[in-house]
Amino acid sequence: MTMLYRSTRGSSPAVNFSDALERGLAPDGGLYVPERLPSIDVEEFSDLKAIEDIAERLLTPFLDGDPLAPELKKIGTEALSFPIPITPLAQGPAQVLELFWGPTAAFKDIGARFLAECLQRIDGPARTVLVATSGDTGGAVASAFWRKPGIEVGILFPKDGVSVRQRHQLTCFGENVSAFAVSGTFDDCQKLLKQALADEEWRTGRGLTTANSINVARLLPQIVYYAAAALHHHRQSGTVPGFIVPSGNVGNATAALWAKAMGFPVGRIVMVTNANRTVPDYLQTGSWSPRPSVKTLANAMDVGDPSNMERVFDLYPDIEDLRRDVESMSVDDAEIEETIRHGRERYGRVWDPHTATAVRASEILDGDHWVLVSTAHPAKFDDVVEPLIGEGVEVPPALAELLARESRFVEIEPELAALARAW
Ligand SMILES: *Cc1c(COP(=O)(O)O)cnc(C)c1O
Repeated sequence: MTMLYRSTRGSSPAVNFSDALERGLAPDGGLYVPERLPSIDVEEFSDLKAIEDIAERLLTPFLDGDPLAPELKKIGTEALSFPIPITPLAQGPAQVLELFWGPTAAFKDIGARFLAECLQRIDGPARTVLVATSGDTGGAVASAFWRKPGIEVGILFPKDGVSVRQRHQLTCFGENVSAFAVSGTFDDCQKLLKQALADEEWRTGRGLTTANSINVARLLPQIVYYAAAALHHHRQSGTVPGFIVPSGNVGNATAALWAKAMGFPVGRIVMVTNANRTVPDYLQTGSWSPRPSVKTLANAMDVGDPSNMERVFDLYPDIEDLRRDVESMSVDDAEIEETIRHGRERYGRVWDPHTATAVRASEILDGDHWVLVSTAHPAKFDDVVEPLIGEGVEVPPALAELLARESRFVEIEPELAALARAW
């Protein structure tokens, strides 16, 4: 039976996976979600260890009846082509799920590569991929789509909202990849993207789609590493791990919730935010009040109106059910600094500012079986990390290669007309 994707807002027709991927946002402004999440039996996965095999079995029902289904094995293998280790902490029982060994040193490489591998296999006219980034998405998307034939890529980033190395990573590709520094915040970039996606001229004229975490194709491969980590942990210890997820737009945590809903051995999920407290405030007060984002040291999480909460509300129409499965807390910049500063002595590790929020949360939370989701390599945020630890951070080879390239971008106002003129 074909797997269909429906809009969270319910007033657009359900479509197959390829169509949901190409559209990005549903015509009614909602986000695509699978019509029904497949349920699994853990036994079906008991013979699988390699992540690409878990990916194939897990994702097969999501692409049921889709033209891309026969290519799934290849797509998954390309997207997950670097190590995703789960390592114990020197202190205490927690483990760390290291998602940052891809080309741009952050977990977004996984979703972006899966999306790029899918999109280049869908027949059709020339395409434009536009993406708004609070830092790491842009680099991951640029890297994933660079030199893919027939695909033009535009990256919108807040002019003063990204680190020097992040900016370099999203402006160093060129050729089919253009970068735009928007005078405004990430939320302005995201608004601009939504305007473009809602614009018929852009959509049909330019064949526009998006690679933001609102694209359902970004979320699917993220379910895989939660499943793999949970199965591994469960096999080893017989216990069900909880995951502490540094959260911004809440895509990564949504993937964890989907893994749990499918029946993988996943316990509680902690959405840890920086000083942008929209999600923890919601769980505490029960009222949803998005607000402008504030700048923090964990800038890829500087989101005041997290889009993917629409998928979370869809999965959990009743807040009491959500409160049973999810907790949320906010970690401010002072705590982030403190956690990074003491990383070596407490854990023998150097943390990046995003992972530091999860580490700090684990120090506050009860319970033994936490997996800390490490979303970036500290070398990506050297400007924050190095002064705090008083030493240099070794740059992984893939990142070093990018940093050696020249950077180019154009500055624009946060308006669709300005983008059209510049591109
Ligand atoms: C994007 C990002 C996050 C937040 O992920 P969401 O899926 O947007 O919640 C956390 N850490 C890093 C390093 C990121 O790049």
